[in-house]
Amino acid sequence: MDIAVLPSHLVDQFGRTIDYLRVSITDRCDFRCVYCMSEDMTFLPRAQILSMEEIYAIVSAFVALGIKKVRITGGEPLVRKGAMELLAKLGKIPGLQDLVLTTNGSQLATLAPALKAAGVKRINISLDTLDPEKFKSLTRTGDLATVLAGIAAAKMAGFESIKLNAVILQQRNHQEVVQLVKFAIQHALDISFIEEMPLGVVTEHDRFESYYPSHLIRQDLSAHFTLLASEHSSGGPSRYYSIAGTTTQVGFISPHSENFCSTCNRVRLTAEGRLLLCLGNEHAVDLKAVVRAHPGNSYSLKRAIVDAMQLKPEKHEFNLQEQPIIFRHMNVTGG
Ligand code: SAM
Ligand code: SF4
Repeated sequence: MDIAVLPSHLVDQFGRTIDYLRVSITDRCDFRCVYCMSEDMTFLPRAQILSMEEIYAIVSAFVALGIKKVRITGGEPLVRKGAMELLAKLGKIPGLQDLVLTTNGSQLATLAPALKAAGVKRINISLDTLDPEKFKSLTRTGDLATVLAGIAAAKMAGFESIKLNAVILQQRNHQEVVQLVKFAIQHALDISFIEEMPLGVVTEHDRFESYYPSHLIRQDLSAHFTLLASEHSSGGPSRYYSIAGTTTQVGFISPHSENFCSTCNRVRLTAEGRLLLCLGNEHAVDLKAVVRAHPGNSYSLKRAIVDAMQLKPEKHEFNLQEQPIIFRHMNVTGG
């Protein structure tokens, strides 16, 4: 086949340009957040997940096809051996404008300066509560003080921006949204509140009962802050508000209450090499099979990626009142 037929941009069948790739480099994690995992998880065997070289080859193929932004996520990306070397290599891919990271913050106290040096521009750090005991009960294995030290180290390292991500659950941490915003303001950080998505079976709570919609969070915040609708965009589904008199932006990721599918610009690569075309559907293409069948042949990979765009569905199918229809947990896709 003629290499010239490959497009320079990825466009799906609904006319959406896809220029953002999220890559889960591991399904493993040092935390077991109650909304993300069950307590007793079975992780993928090593041979089943992409090697660092395969991840690099796939990301390079995407960038050649017009992907501008790559987010490295997990599981916890920074617990995978070789993660720093991979990030440093990705940071040098010509044409990649934005290399960004989502982390639980557990390793940042030591790794933040090296991440900045590797070319990571911005970081999202998950933080659902400022109460050490609640933090332990929400993450099951995490330690709040370690994550707060990680946030401080990330600030010192000088990233373009740092955003906190908080998944809000009714009766677990919904009472803390004002404190979390105060913390963000105090440290000149942004913060996004995320509605829990029904991905995989979790054991500790009923997702319908724990649902705490974005509009209630906005109502809670409005009693303490002046929220001004903002034009700010991180190129994602967050709707942003600025807080009068501060530099802090507050985002709301509301898959249930404010559907964002019409502007979706992203696809996801799972740790085992499935290209997932929508977080809320199972449409996927096995890029691991392609990269292993044609090692060193970037054309086959690019062809498979271009063809996959035609499978991207129009919208997600989340329904909190039914059993999950998506049985993979969030650590498989990285959010
Ligand atoms: N371990 C890293 C972290 O926690 O930031 C990166 C991976 S984690 C899967 C990415 C994001 O997904 C986190 O902000 C986490 O809070 C969020 N998340 C996990 N499970 C979720 C769920 N069921 N619904 C909504 N967000 C979820
Ligand atoms: Fe790990 Fe992130 Fe999932 Fe928490 S949300 S269990 S930190 S992957």
